[in-house]
Amino acid sequence: MKKNITLPGDPLPSNSRFYIERPPIESDAYTELLKPGSLIRIKAPRHMGKSSLMLRLIDQAQTEGYSIVTIDFKLVDRQTFFSLNNFLRWFCANVARKLSVISLLDDYWDEEIGSKVSASIYFESYLLEQIQSPLVLILHEIDYIFEHQHIAQDFLLLLRSWHEQAKQTPIWEKVRLVLLHSTEVYIPLNINQSPFNVGLSLKLPEFTVEQVTKLAKQYEIDWFDSQAVEKLMNLVGGHPYLIHQGLYYLYQQKISLPEILDNCVLNNGIYSEYLRSLLNILQKNPELSQAYNQIVNSTDGNIYLSTNLVYKLDSLGLIKLNGEKNYQPFCEMYRLFFQQNLFIDDNNIRLDKLKKENEQLQVLVNIDQLTQIANRKCFDENFKLEWQRMANIQEPLSLILADVDEFKFYNDTYGHQSGDDCLRQVAQAINSVIKDPNILVARYGGEEFALILPQTEAEEAIIIAEEIRETVKSLRINISGLTNKTQAMHKTRLTISLGIVCVIPSGYFSITEFFEAADQALYQAKQLGRDRTILSSKFKFGYYE
Ligand code: GH3
Ligand code: MG
Ligand code: MG
Repeated sequence: MKKNITLPGDPLPSNSRFYIERPPIESDAYTELLKPGSLIRIKAPRHMGKSSLMLRLIDQAQTEGYSIVTIDFKLVDRQTFFSLNNFLRWFCANVARKLSVISLLDDYWDEEIGSKVSASIYFESYLLEQIQSPLVLILHEIDYIFEHQHIAQDFLLLLRSWHEQAKQTPIWEKVRLVLLHSTEVYIPLNINQSPFNVGLSLKLPEFTVEQVTKLAKQYEIDWFDSQAVEKLMNLVGGHPYLIHQGLYYLYQQKISLPEILDNCVLNNGIYSEYLRSLLNILQKNPELSQAYNQIVNSTDGNIYLSTNLVYKLDSLGLIKLNGEKNYQPFCEMYRLFFQQNLFIDDNNIRLDKLKKENEQLQVLVNIDQLTQIANRKCFDENFKLEWQRMANIQEPLSLILADVDEFKFYNDTYGHQSGDDCLRQVAQAINSVIKDPNILVARYGGEEFALILPQTEAEEAIIIAEEIRETVKSLRINISGLTNKTQAMHKTRLTISLGIVCVIPSGYFSITEFFEAADQALYQAKQLGRDRTILSSKFKFGYYE
């Protein structure tokens, strides 16, 4: 048994002897990193060596005495993607934290001038001023933001503008952007606005014969001659991870090369775990399975596939693009394994499609499309059920109605699109306050929201309502502009008013009277000057007054 070396899989530390350079990629990257205001893009499917190269870049930057910040977009919460403002605040705060600089975000953030400008000012006037050295900003798994087009477009545009700024404003020369991604970028962007049309682009290629031979030497496999290299590469191509894996086992002398070649697609083969993990991913997506099945069984590779499917297969490293619309399995082993293991059952595909459509329909029926919270229909059903349930168990039912203040003015001033964005943020803010899964948060209609709170006393409902009111206010959405009537300057923060009603349902009054009481409390809140919560006094001790 040879001395212990860890099984390949994790990114290789920068001093690892198993890191094989793929010239001129590394030296090009290092040179670019030293250039003021540079931008480096590294693209490759998973397990091709992106993270290992990133560790080397970090090492290089450390040697130069640069500040380094790595942001991994895989770690972004779903709600952060709700609005560009949230996302950019999250991004800036993260960079500050990683630089160990106090955030002071609010001192630089001004929604009147917009979140992109705020973020730029924050970097220019604060963050970059705080550090003496260049800043290497590594954006890892940036693919994750591609799924959120409304964020991705603006964010990518912002990155491009920072890169351009370096040509005019010396302080921006400090920024060195490194973007890592595994899929093609399919965000529609003007080429003059995209960060993917500038800077240094690096695509990590497969290993060459020489590079595989060099790696074999690092594994001290003396007999690994050109024939052996050829045999292994016929099977797994120049895939860095698969090559590493093969050489690792040969080094351990637990298996011979002929055994690797003969058993590669069997259950006990050295690649079986990896192959099964790919199979697993494919089987979760019948459409993707079907597409790949066509590829591994095709003799010429001329297959029509939607762009979306090609992106997915490519990012998994499953295919090789052979010119326009010609696709081959990435390596022979994939062809063999998936020919034998990827069973396509047409019924399954049909069932899966139906199931998905059904799920979507179910969701569509109950979810408000704009805010992605429960809709009016869902509210109505739930309201009746909870009313009956609370009547049965004689527990209090609370209802909160919330209405955005002066929303018409907001719409008139900023446009309907911004109005929609604002409603999304308000819905999200309300949701963020509610931790109890028994409480339903719904969009009642327009800019009105409703919450059903079973087994909740009035005091508790007031606390929740007030927390909602504060949370919405703390979104710091500005409303400013000239009023139509008085032409006076009107400047406030967006607020909401809330009406509450609470009662133990009984036969003395109807569900309609109950709802109307909440509506009247809300009306009162508006009359008294908005931005407040009013509890209906209609029901005292469970009786109607
Ligand atoms: P108040 O403080 O008294 O509630 O005043 P308000 O302006 O909010 O009330 P009003 O009911 O007069 O106006 C509501 C506005 O909400 C009018 C309408 O254009 C807007 N609105 C309703 N639904 C939507 C929507 O889905 N998207 C957008 N952007 N606006 C909406
Ligand atoms: Mg209203
Ligand atoms: Mg309103």
